[in-house]
Parts: sequence; C-alpha cells; structure tokens
Amino acid sequence: MLSGPEPVLVRAPNPGVMTLEGTNTWVLPAPGGAVVIDPGPADPVHVAALERRGPVAAVLLTHRHADHSEALEVLAADAPVHAVSPQFARNPLRDGADPLRDGAGPLRDGAGPLRDDEVLVIGGARLRVLLTPGHTEDSACFLYENAPGGPLLFTGDTLLGGRSASSISRIDGSLTQYLDSLERLAGRIGVRGLPGHGPEIMDVAEHARGALEHRRARLSELAARLEAGGSPDAEEIARQRHPDRPEVWAPAAWMVRHELAHLARSIADGAPPLGRRSRRDGEDPSPSGTPIGECDRRATPSTVPLAEERPVRGR
Ligand SMILES: [Zn+2]
Repeated sequence: MLSGPEPVLVRAPNPGVMTLEGTNTWVLPAPGGAVVIDPGPADPVHVAALERRGPVAAVLLTHRHADHSEALEVLAADAPVHAVSPQFARNPLRDGADPLRDGAGPLRDGAGPLRDDEVLVIGGARLRVLLTPGHTEDSACFLYENAPGGPLLFTGDTLLGGRSASSISRIDGSLTQYLDSLERLAGRIGVRGLPGHGPEIMDVAEHARGALEHRRARLSELAARLEAGGSPDAEEIARQRHPDRPEVWAPAAWMVRHELAHLARSIADGAPPLGRRSRRDGEDPSPSGTPIGECDRRATPSTVPLAEERPVRGR
C-alpha cells in the first residue's frame, strides 16, 4: 500500500497539570476529508484551527475523556466515529450511503465499538486498532502502518510524551490492565509514537519499558512496605512519596489505591505482582491467526526485570 498522509499536529490551548502543554489533536489530511484523531476540547479557538483543515471524513477516539472527545459534536457531528466506547462509536453514513464516499475508503459496516487488531482504511491511511485499557477501560492506540517514513502509533494517554507518567482513571482505570497494555507496547520496537499530550515519542518500545520500570518500582516499594507491616493508608503513602508537593497528594493517593488493588488482585490470582505475563481470559493463547506484527513480542522475558520482583506473600 502507498504511504498515507503526513500527520499534522493541532495542539489545543488547554495546558494544565493533567494535559501538559495541551491536548494533541492529530489530523491526517485527505482529499475526501481529513481523519481526525482525538478532536480535543470544545474550545472555540481549537475548533476553528481544526475547521481550517477542511471537512472531516472520520474521527478516531483514543478514549472517552473530555479533553480528547468534547469537540466531537461541534466539529464533526455527521462523521463516523471510531471508538471503543459504545457511547461514542457511530456511523451515520451506514444507511444508504456509498461506502466509498469521496475516496474515504471502506467504512466499517457497523457503528459498533472497535475491536482489537481491527484495521481501518480511511483517507489513504491504514490504521490498526490496539486495545490498551488501563488509563481508562476504553483506551486504544492506533498503529498507522503506512505512515510516510515508517509506522507511527497514536498513543492517546496510554503513553504520554516527555517524562510524565499516565494517570489511571479513578472511575474505570486499572493498573493491572495498564501493565498488560504497557507490555504490549514494549514489543513495538522502532515505532515512533504520537501521544495525546507532550512531544513525539522517539521509540514506543523504549518509552513503554521505562513506564513499566517506573510502575514496577512503585509496586515493589509498596509490597515491601506492606510486608514489613507498614500502613496501607493511601493518603499517608502519597504524602510520604511527595513530601514537598501537596498539590499532587490527592491524585497520588488514587494511584496508591490502584497499586493496592493490583497487589491484592495479584495475590488472589496467584499472578506475579509486578505485572502479569499471562493472557486475559478468552484470549487466543496462540499468536497464530491474523498476524499482529510485533505486538506478540510483549511476552518475551527480556521485557521482564526479574531482579525487581519480590513476592507479596511470605516466602
Ligand atoms: Zn488527556
């Protein structure tokens, strides 16, 4: 397949603690209308900047959060939306429409939620869906396979650019799922990442391994504390981790609660506490079937720093 369009970054003017320099909206310009990945906040300046890029043929959402999805209705009320969450997934062109409308490529015949490993071909871009729950239940990354200059991964908030760690939603996030998703991305060697916030990621695999190490170090620390009879009070632990930064105590305490839940779940499952290497229930245990490229390398022992592992229960 020929190379697709060069991605254009339109950064929203919503900088903040959680949004870093602002939300990154990625646009793939195409003659039949652009593909927009994460329309961003419904900020009039941001929406106007996107509208200057021309009509929208399709929207892809990396997850449900408002700083990524809010502009959807103002910007592209009539466009198909490809999302994991049924709250957003839709295809208003499905009924009686030409499925090859304006060269936008075959539309998915349903408006259903995205499935793992599904490939979308829109506006000359070939985009493979990687479900990466953790930050939220509905988080996904999109592998732009025919990007000019080599494959690119739209990472949403699963991997942020720069040195910031992703948060885990207190509503539907899961650290256990997030570690699985990071292991999956750690197999994407040599792929550049275009995140939902922050600068471009030079190597998705390396970045994901760094994030895994950070999470595992925290979990090791916490497991050792509990083993030594320390208090499991999340607020207290958050204060001890960040003694000089009261502004982060509340979110840090939520992270600790996710860590405690992960450790408890690992004990219940008999799984290694610092990240599961087994597949989730219902997944095909063999990597045969549709080739999914490097993503199955996630289970290689080289990505698992065994030396860091400590049992949570007594030896
Ligand atoms: Zn975000």
